[in-house]
Amino acid sequence: GLNSRLVKEGKGKFSEQVWYADGMYGPAIKEIVNWLVKARSVAENDAQRKTFELLIAYYQSGDLKKFDEYNIAWVADTNSVVDTVNGFIEVYDDALGYRGTWESVVSIKDAEASKRIAAISGQAQWFEDNSPLLPEHKKKNVVGISAKVITVVVEGGDAAPTTPIGINLPNANWIRAQHGSKSVNLGNIVEAYDQAKNGDGQLEEFTRDEAELARAKEHGSLAHKLHVDMHEVIGHASGQIEAGIGTPKETLKSYASALEEARADLVGLYYIMDPKLVEMGLMPSLEVGKAAYDSYIRSGMMVQLSRLELGEQLEESHMRNRQLVAAWAYEHGKAENVVVKEVVDGKTYFVVKDYEKLRVIFGELLREIQRIKSKGDFAAGKALVETYGVKVDRALHEEVLRRYQALNVAPYAGFIQPKLVPVMEGDKIVDVK
Ligand SMILES: [Zn+2]
Repeated sequence: GLNSRLVKEGKGKFSEQVWYADGMYGPAIKEIVNWLVKARSVAENDAQRKTFELLIAYYQSGDLKKFDEYNIAWVADTNSVVDTVNGFIEVYDDALGYRGTWESVVSIKDAEASKRIAAISGQAQWFEDNSPLLPEHKKKNVVGISAKVITVVVEGGDAAPTTPIGINLPNANWIRAQHGSKSVNLGNIVEAYDQAKNGDGQLEEFTRDEAELARAKEHGSLAHKLHVDMHEVIGHASGQIEAGIGTPKETLKSYASALEEARADLVGLYYIMDPKLVEMGLMPSLEVGKAAYDSYIRSGMMVQLSRLELGEQLEESHMRNRQLVAAWAYEHGKAENVVVKEVVDGKTYFVVKDYEKLRVIFGELLREIQRIKSKGDFAAGKALVETYGVKVDRALHEEVLRRYQALNVAPYAGFIQPKLVPVMEGDKIVDVK
């Protein structure tokens, strides 16, 4: 399960070491429980108190049924201003996709920014109905999309020092189907990334011309935010699996994660060029969508390779997904010059020439990946990921590393966690420094 290690103890004998208060990692987990007990005493409301109780019971017993109960209670608690993600959750680090890595995120709700995401969430059914999915793979009733923008206070475990920018949980598909899920956009993190990117020379180096650069500077930040919002809110939530077909983890195995990220990204890409978002007042013009397309192609075809050592292949799900989407679109639009590769003074650029057609191509890939998920088509899923999402063009990789190195910026950013000191008045906390 999510919270254990399988150990071979000689011939044909296996034992499971469960991570819980009296098991493996016991001392650390007891510390987690201590803090959760403290948190329970200051819970905002009964719904939140219940989540803490269930989470404590889970850590004390190691029983994954308790973790399910916790997740159901956590999804139901949408009113609390302070929220937390806590547990052995994401399986990205396990090649087989079973063991969860521990993480914790403590956050407060950003009421103003949450309005943007709420507007998208409020139209979820419209987005589902108008998507390019095959009719039988569309949800008739999109349920349980709860979305907000949060300000991260502190992160630990897998979520630090590198952090996600969006979170959509729980991962258990049956809980998502029956009880819904919660989506959050980590507002202050996204903002920090965008500000850092605007000043480090990356855009100047990898954009092809003044127009692309100007578009990135003017609209890149909003494009990025909207794309992340749609990825989490209407992306992961959309589509349905056909009756009798197993979960993606069962059917698509080690390819499930990259394909799911691609699916969610494609929903965002498809709609960021839709006039609907302009009508909704979420963006001033389709220039925002164009900036999103430029950036996605730049990153997926080239810039993300800066994070990889020479000779390595793509292993991480999000990186595989980005290259898969960008490279598939590039190839399928090649005959019509939708995205073109230009080499100027020894520098390679991938330039979007036809945004409307690129949107159609994104829609086609979305429909195909949804079909793969809905039907559990392992062979097709494997072929997509292996053909487009794994292999790296060595010469291009060398070029990217050389150009990136010259900029002298780190390919990954990390965040330093704040040390929070309470300001006490008697035994009451009145402020935090
Ligand atoms: Zn995702």
